[in-house]
Amino acid sequence: MRRAGFRDCFCSSAFDPFGPDRYDQFVAQQHVVIIGGGFGGIEAARGLRKAPVRVTLVDRRNHYLFQPLLYQVATAALNPSDIASPIRRILRGQRNACVILGDALSIDTQKKIVQLADGELAYDYLIVAAGATHSYFGHEEWLEAAPGAGRVRGGRA
Ligand SMILES: Cc1cc2nc3c(=O)[nH]c(=O)nc-3n(C[C@H](O)[C@H](O)[C@H](O)COP(=O)(O)OP(=O)(O)OC[C@H]3O[C@@H](n4cnc5c(N)ncnc54)[C@H](O)[C@@H]3O)c2cc1C
Repeated sequence: MRRAGFRDCFCSSAFDPFGPDRYDQFVAQQHVVIIGGGFGGIEAARGLRKAPVRVTLVDRRNHYLFQPLLYQVATAALNPSDIASPIRRILRGQRNACVILGDALSIDTQKKIVQLADGELAYDYLIVAAGATHSYFGHEEWLEAAPGAGRVRGGRA
């Protein structure tokens, strides 16, 4: 299984961790992995902006979605692009942050590894900010009448 490394992910163009004398220093830092680039994950990454750690944020989508305005998209008051922004763009100026597009499947807390659909990520500290989903209280047939509104596609009428 391929292990996702720093050469697999985007890092701020303002900082080259692979530059001369920087790589060893960079990888020696504690590694914080954040699952989810929504409200919680972005806030956590930003909060670590000045911390002496390297941060890897992994999300299955390449964009942050401002869910409170989904209704305006559903009613055509806004374009989907008005409420979505690439996560890489949001964190592009953060020198200690990398963004990986990936689907987290499981977490091995003993080995401190996040299993992705196409690799794995080792961490020292893990922040899980993968959001929540709606529940039909065992009545999945209600899905057809009341689909979830948490995505641009699902939120459209
Ligand atoms: C229609 C609507 C309107 C809302 N209006 C308001 C409002 O007016 N005010 C308010 O305070 N709140 C509102 N909310 C709620 C608010 O949007 C959520 O509370 C907030 O987005 C939760 O943030 P989060 O970081 O926990 O999760 P999210 O913002 O949902 O982010 C989770 C992220 O994790 C990623 N992810 C999930 N699973 C995985 C995985 N296995 N691997 C990789 N990535 C994964 C997702 O792609 C997503 O980017 C609204 C929600 C909806 C749906």
